[in-house]
Amino acid sequence: MEQPYVIVGASLAGAKAAEALRAEGHGGPVELIGEETELPYERPPLSKGYLQGKTPRAEFDVHPAAWYAEHDVTLRLGTRVTAINPRARTVELADGTRTGFAKLLLTTGASPRRLPVPGGDGPSVLTLRRVGDSERIRSALRPGARIVIVGAGWIGLETAAAARLAGAEVTVLEMAELPLLRVLGREVARVFADLHRQKGVDLRFGVQVAAVEDGGVRLGDGTLVPADAVVVGVGISPNTALAEAAGLTVDNGVRTDEHLRTSHPDVFAAGDVANAFHPLFGRPIRVEHWANALNQPATAARSMLGRDAVYDRVPYFFTDQYDLGMEYTGYVEPDGYDRVVFRGDVEGREFIAFWLSGGRVLAGMNVNVWDVTDPIRELVRSGRQVDADRLADPDVPLAELAG
Ligand SMILES: Cc1cc2nc3c(=O)[nH]c(=O)nc-3n(C[C@H](O)[C@H](O)[C@H](O)COP(=O)(O)OP(=O)(O)OC[C@H]3O[C@@H](n4cnc5c(N)ncnc54)[C@H](O)[C@@H]3O)c2cc1C
Repeated sequence: MEQPYVIVGASLAGAKAAEALRAEGHGGPVELIGEETELPYERPPLSKGYLQGKTPRAEFDVHPAAWYAEHDVTLRLGTRVTAINPRARTVELADGTRTGFAKLLLTTGASPRRLPVPGGDGPSVLTLRRVGDSERIRSALRPGARIVIVGAGWIGLETAAAARLAGAEVTVLEMAELPLLRVLGREVARVFADLHRQKGVDLRFGVQVAAVEDGGVRLGDGTLVPADAVVVGVGISPNTALAEAAGLTVDNGVRTDEHLRTSHPDVFAAGDVANAFHPLFGRPIRVEHWANALNQPATAARSMLGRDAVYDRVPYFFTDQYDLGMEYTGYVEPDGYDRVVFRGDVEGREFIAFWLSGGRVLAGMNVNVWDVTDPIRELVRSGRQVDADRLADPDVPLAELAG
């Protein structure tokens, strides 16, 4: 009997991989195994429209329920994989049964980090990764409710926006001096600080959380910040346990080459869990964003089928907070740039920010300015030096600079 192509992790990357295998003409059995009981779904609405009660649940399934049978994909939901054995080509399930595989793809994603303080993993502490998490948080977002959010990253800030829109009193506690400091740097991070302050969020920077107690969050200086609900958004860790136990190379995620092949030739990885060698940057990067989980699976599927494929897309992500919509194209390490150039109206929050190093654009972020990601991507990809004055000048078409 022909062994299946098995995909472990039935979320965006897993479902797109099943789709890509069929699109590539693979006719053999495909099994998509996931521990969640929901059909594979997209997560961005969980901290935006769905959290705000605006986006219906049915709108963010990756595929409609019928798609899996129509494409002869065996979808095994509510099924946890407890071990993988690349040498024997088997995966072991929580019920003790085993399934063989011809090729294996790991799309196990990531899980929220916990707060390493007393009470940090208590039942009243909410994190946001799954549909159920979003529903639990939403039920706490009532007018006047005191919501304390620990961590001013994307999840924390989007949750803060949803909570304010619901009329809650919101306090954000952040260890660093600004929100999103590691991703955006100080020049641009302040845009998000200003936005949330103007919307009435109590932003507290440079604070240490010492404990989560019944009445709220205790800070390092002894202050109690009262809370009806505490939401923790302090980052995620890739779900690498299966790979590690199987002896695959793991280093900030499952290491893969540019073909998304792991250290075992029959095992591949994609999405949030993959720390994949990126030809444009000349080193592995792990991208925790929707577009990466959407697009990497096509490369993984081709590689699994023995076809030539390299993943070299420029990273891209987006956020929506209140009336601010943003897209970010590129990749910059916290100390990886020497200059930020703005084009447009920063105070009016309608602008593009560019991060440069040695005159080359590493990343661009458009805020309430649309249809510019193509030229920004070209600017990043080309690696050519640009004139900063022309970059800052809205009258110079970006396509001309990318040229
Ligand atoms: C609330 C929220 C908002 C977001 N908003 C944005 C946004 O605005 N823009 C953006 O670019 N990105 C956003 N993201 C990030 C984006 O959703 C992720 O990059 C994407 O979900 C990654 O998909 P994935 O399939 O790689 O992993 P995941 O979505 O983490 O899925 C992995 C799946 O594997 C399952 N699994 C793990 N281990 C096992 C096992 N042993 N056995 C069986 N199943 C297993 C998990 O249960 C899970 O279902 C957001 C994420 C969250 C949580």
